Amino acid sequence: MIDLRDDFPILKNKIYGQRLVYLDNAATSQKPSSVIDAISDFYKYDNSNIHRGVHYLSELSSDRYEEARKKISTFIGSSDPSEIRFTAGTTDSINQVAFSLKSTLMGNEVLISGMEHHSNIVPWQLAEAKIKTIPMDEDCNLLLDSIEITDKTKLIAISHVSNVLGTVNDIKRITEIAKEHDIPVLVDAAQSIQHLPIDVEKIGCDFLAASGHKMYASSGIGVLYTNNRYSDIMPARGGGGMVDKVTFEGSTYLSPPLRYEAGTPNISGAISVNSAIDYMQDIGLDKIRKHEHDVYSYAKERLLDTDGITVYGNNEDMCGSISFNIENIHHYDLGLILDKMGVAVRTGHHCAQPLMKFLGTEGTVRASFALYNTKDDVDILMDSIEKARMMFS
Ligand code: PMP
Repeated sequence: MIDLRDDFPILKNKIYGQRLVYLDNAATSQKPSSVIDAISDFYKYDNSNIHRGVHYLSELSSDRYEEARKKISTFIGSSDPSEIRFTAGTTDSINQVAFSLKSTLMGNEVLISGMEHHSNIVPWQLAEAKIKTIPMDEDCNLLLDSIEITDKTKLIAISHVSNVLGTVNDIKRITEIAKEHDIPVLVDAAQSIQHLPIDVEKIGCDFLAASGHKMYASSGIGVLYTNNRYSDIMPARGGGGMVDKVTFEGSTYLSPPLRYEAGTPNISGAISVNSAIDYMQDIGLDKIRKHEHDVYSYAKERLLDTDGITVYGNNEDMCGSISFNIENIHHYDLGLILDKMGVAVRTGHHCAQPLMKFLGTEGTVRASFALYNTKDDVDILMDSIEKARMMFS
């Protein structure tokens, strides 16, 4: 068991006089001191705009920004940092792909799963594509043998890990199927990058989107991996920093990644991603995974052992989030009561309304875990649930 709570200043907060049990990590993670210091040090010592200045500070911040790009590139298994562009987050990454591929997607189909976050549904609708879903069984496992690909299928866009259920989808198998039909695959890694090893080259995906704020870095920064095969898709943003020549008649663009990063980027955000990866690597990714697996399995076991609780989804391979409802208590009421006991969970549809419809519920209570959660947190969650049940009985 590792206990990393002391690395996270916010976890020292008392909530209504009690220990903060933060189980809303799928919404956003807390930040370790090292990441907070890296952001603060950047503004204290290195701040300048990047790629444009000839002066010392501009070179320094440009170097630091590019170092961050290299770090995340290696972290997700890309051998070429120019395949990484910084974005504002997963939502922004997916929207950029939707904009760039709009002419191909329009009037055609995007194949997704039934457990997608709205961020992996709405951008395709904005691109005027029709959404088709991969069938799933009642435990919310994708039935990959029943995938239907037609001439109209132009992209498969799939979450690696469900933000509601914690189900881990077999994205390697999905890319294999896609390859047989020569269709690109976008992986939404918002809920996996902080929990599972990711190797874009092994997975064989074409795009991969993730958010900094869910992996211990700051908000407003994200990444989009784009395989070099798609290095010349249309930029979704135009402006300074991405052009070679500009005339009133037309413009030419730089090579990736700068071609895709118009305007001043979130420089301190990129630095926070670098620092967050350092933090995780210093602890040891295997050690983190083992710890998270132990805590998650313990939570799942305890929830499943409790009478009157419905746990949604079931798979050997689950991580991060777990969703449930308790007989006779509305999810929102349970969330409010847990909060009064210092336990932060999320309630509602979790930006996955089609999944809620599939599950036959309006919403769930979601507990979602990070590397600083412990079995003690699970015990407090379970005790608090028991107290809530007594109040409602
Ligand atoms: N996809 C998934 C699976 C998510 O969980 C989230 C965030 N809840 C998003 C996309 C969107 O991420 P962001 O809000 O950071 O853009």
